[in-house]
Amino acid sequence: IYSLSDFITYYDTSQRICYRRIISILRIDKSQDRCIKIERILKFNSLPPMLKSQQRKIASHKGYLWMTDEMLVINPAKIKSKVDIWLIDVNKPNNYQYVISEIVPFRIAYHAIGGLYLQIGNMKQMLRQKLKNHFLLSFIPFVATSDEVLQPLINDIQDLEREYELKIGVITSDLLEGNEQAGVKNHNAHHGCRNCMIHHSKLNNVSFDTARHSRYHHKTTLQFSTIRKVQTQAQRDALAMQYGIQENPCL
Ligand SMILES: [Zn+2]
Repeated sequence: IYSLSDFITYYDTSQRICYRRIISILRIDKSQDRCIKIERILKFNSLPPMLKSQQRKIASHKGYLWMTDEMLVINPAKIKSKVDIWLIDVNKPNNYQYVISEIVPFRIAYHAIGGLYLQIGNMKQMLRQKLKNHFLLSFIPFVATSDEVLQPLINDIQDLEREYELKIGVITSDLLEGNEQAGVKNHNAHHGCRNCMIHHSKLNNVSFDTARHSRYHHKTTLQFSTIRKVQTQAQRDALAMQYGIQENPCL
């Protein structure tokens, strides 16, 4: 009777009524019992203090609730009923009791916080833009390393790989991370452009032949292997500088 992304109500341990959204329905291997993974939805009163703005308070009187990244797994028997909640960027349903227009980080306030979202690449653009099709994997606290944050995702991908063929389609990034992923040196290096071999002192040369001096895959592959083959660290450093690439690229 319940399906994914349904909104539900249930009683928590202190018998208070809570709002939740179903994220996934799991079956326990041995017993075949079902359990349900849900996402916590907050009323204004349960929001962390720093998120209790006047604006949100007014919104709460109009029936607004807030989605969070906090998940828990519950026994489906604890669910009381479905509840109609309107996620603001989908078509307005005929009946709804509450409205959701924001996802808020729940646990701790960080100075800077990133979000890791999953999107299904072969959805039409119109569908991709909708809030309901952004699957929030986690928030990234500013102290976390990318390895820490990505490890759970990598584990999931490895699980999936047993049955499906998965490939990375595209990586988007800013300049710094783009160079890092491409195995190119920092943008201040002599050859710090990840697309071509222009020298740092010639960046204003509009007639530079980028087609001729691009970082073609076959060329960089050769450069990386040349660096790996030389004997001394001094030689490796010199080549890395000459090519503007890293000795140990991450991909
Ligand atoms: Zn360039």
